Amino acid sequence: MPELPEVEVVRRGLAQHVVSRTISAVEVLHPRSVRRHAAGPHDFASRLTGRRVDDVRRRGKYLWLVLDEGDAVLCHLGMSGQFRIDGGDSEPKHLAIALALDDGQRLLFADQRTFGGMAFSEDGAELPHQIAHIARDPLDPEFDTAMFTTRLRKRQTGVKRALLDQTLVSGIGNIYADEALWRTPLHYARNTRHLRTREIDGLLHHVVEVMREALDQGGTSFDTLYVNVNGESGYFERSLAAYGQEGMPCHRCGTPIRREPFMNRSSYRCPVCQPRPRNGRW
Ligand SMILES: [Zn+2]
Repeated sequence: MPELPEVEVVRRGLAQHVVSRTISAVEVLHPRSVRRHAAGPHDFASRLTGRRVDDVRRRGKYLWLVLDEGDAVLCHLGMSGQFRIDGGDSEPKHLAIALALDDGQRLLFADQRTFGGMAFSEDGAELPHQIAHIARDPLDPEFDTAMFTTRLRKRQTGVKRALLDQTLVSGIGNIYADEALWRTPLHYARNTRHLRTREIDGLLHHVVEVMREALDQGGTSFDTLYVNVNGESGYFERSLAAYGQEGMPCHRCGTPIRREPFMNRSSYRCPVCQPRPRNGRW
């Protein structure tokens, strides 16, 4: 699933192509992709048609097109959503929504697994009401480290589980959680209640650092489904130190990276740099 850096790459691409454009026509080819728009595909199309896009914003893994008059179109890539800009000649597989723009280009949303989608959000320019519960992400200038630290400790849960909780901090998924925990280093099961302030500060520092590095490299292409609006993949997967590196030597100590089951998925860690907590105290 795309995480913050991948969604931010998409946001920047969209901003280049759609800001100041007016949506001249809307075609919904896959109704499931607008299922979060309760009034249905026809209403969705009619609310977007004729509207100008003024900005493209993001919080965590969500992005939204800011429309004139303060409304918005909320977008989520889900597992496999892709935005593509085209001149009208190519059609991606699994095309779900096509927005024709007044410059002749089309903004296309394709989604193989259809977990993503779009929804109109009335008065949603600042923050769509559908995602009001999503916490600020660590790259947000208004991210509040002190509040995050307080809320993190109150969770009294494993630190990785907390990092993945989008109501506590948004934008972090399995890849960047594992990378930041390896860099800090911390075991994923460390209880947030007992984390020292310097450990939390270090973790946040590494979350930001790894996501900025990934952003510079166009994101991580964990499968063929994640691409930018020009259809290109990022290459941060070459720089991963923990995620997906089972059996490879730890870049710090040489011990083979270990993969363990975690919340129906996997966690990757160095067993020496990130030892398992020996008791509830740490
Ligand atoms: Zn190590």
